[in-house]
Amino acid sequence: MPLDGMFGGDEPRGPWCASCKAPITPGQRRVRVQFDSDPHGFRGLTGVYHEACSKPFASLAHVINLTKFSKF
Ligand SMILES: [Zn+2]
Repeated sequence: MPLDGMFGGDEPRGPWCASCKAPITPGQRRVRVQFDSDPHGFRGLTGVYHEACSKPFASLAHVINLTKFSKF
């Protein structure tokens, strides 16, 4: 559960990659991916990713975010 880390006793340092669940250190490039289907990140999709980890999710988000314009 991602929420466990958010409300745990020890404050995790920095953002955590939503893909590999590892902390993103200040020296690593990070990318925020926004999913319209998960605007608040409750489903663990919208969030900050390592640049490398974000690529498949950014592509997925692009497709998902486009589908709202084509509801047939
Ligand atoms: Zn990652």
